[in-house]
Amino acid sequence: MSYKAEYIWIDGTEPTAKLRSKTKILPGVPSDGAELPIWGFDGSSTNQAEGHASDRVLQPVFSCPDPIRGGNDVLVLCEVLNIDMTPHESNTRALLRPVAEKFAAQEPIFGIEQEYTFFDGTRPLGFPVGGFPAAQGGYYCGVGADEIFGRDIVEKHLDHCLTAGLDISGINAEVMPGQWEFQVGPLGPLEVADQLWIARWLLYRTAEDFNVSATLNPKPVKGDWNGAGAHTNFSTRAMREDYAAIIAACEALGEGSKPLDHVKNYGAGIDERLTGLHETAPWNEFSYGVSDRGASVRIPWQVEKDGKGYIEDRRPNANVDPYVVTRLIVDTCCTGLEKNG
Ligand code: ADP
Ligand code: MN
Ligand code: MN
Ligand code: MN
Ligand code: MN
Repeated sequence: MSYKAEYIWIDGTEPTAKLRSKTKILPGVPSDGAELPIWGFDGSSTNQAEGHASDRVLQPVFSCPDPIRGGNDVLVLCEVLNIDMTPHESNTRALLRPVAEKFAAQEPIFGIEQEYTFFDGTRPLGFPVGGFPAAQGGYYCGVGADEIFGRDIVEKHLDHCLTAGLDISGINAEVMPGQWEFQVGPLGPLEVADQLWIARWLLYRTAEDFNVSATLNPKPVKGDWNGAGAHTNFSTRAMREDYAAIIAACEALGEGSKPLDHVKNYGAGIDERLTGLHETAPWNEFSYGVSDRGASVRIPWQVEKDGKGYIEDRRPNANVDPYVVTRLIVDTCCTGLEKNG
């Protein structure tokens, strides 16, 4: 007996890393208790090494059923290590681990809304050859062949995520044709980020069979078309119990150099998306507000009404690294909440 393990890792491409994967045949069955073995790859082909010393190590950190191959086969998310077993410099998960551990007692959880855009060759799916479709307005959560492009791929991706056991909380069609969203969470920082990377891989892999590419480009069409973000919803136990903690978290995000520290790590090309138009706040002005989709951070109306809940950081780009955004938010907000008692 043997099974296929698809080893998936995040490469070193700048400014936005890409996913890579390859298949390892393993003996037995996945549940026989044997640890998934480490593996290696050629880092010179992934922007993670020079050619003369190019071996890098894949360390399995998360695995789940492979919904594409089915049977006993699995997907295996890996951290990239150097051959001395230290984290490779591209390994942002290794930076999140100690921060998640330090603040675990505050029980931080995240729900990330991943927006993305399907492309059919060089055009967003649903854009006519050499032109533009009707202006945006009717597409968001739309229905019908004149408004919806790619639903068969979206439904298949959702099924794959659920079969893999990922904690998807919903999907919707977005404001621009060919643009969609799925949400992962709420989960702890490492869990939400691991699952989001796997869900991204499944998105690309599912769309591949339809000859469509999915992209996380934050501003796929210039001009009067919505960009693609990754709104990051966040709470700690204190925030889920008390409105003062909700405000303290917003204030912590707005303090001193924090707004810029965050925004410059929220995905390449963020200034093109956070213009102040299209339901965004300008990238260089921090604000928070109840029910305000033009603020950097939104407090949902229900949270104000209930006097507890979570906040939504609306700034992260679709192409953000979830290991980075969760690390920054946990570090900033949990440090701020600690000071506030
Ligand atoms: P929006 O109204 O901004 O489109 P969505 O419904 O798309 O919001 O996404 C909200 C996300 O927030 C979901 O992933 C949901 O699971 C998550 N969420 C809900 N409650 C909490 C909470 N207390 N802490 C963190 N995330 C939460
Ligand atoms: Mn080879
Ligand atoms: Mn949403
Ligand atoms: Mn959205
Ligand atoms: Mn949102």
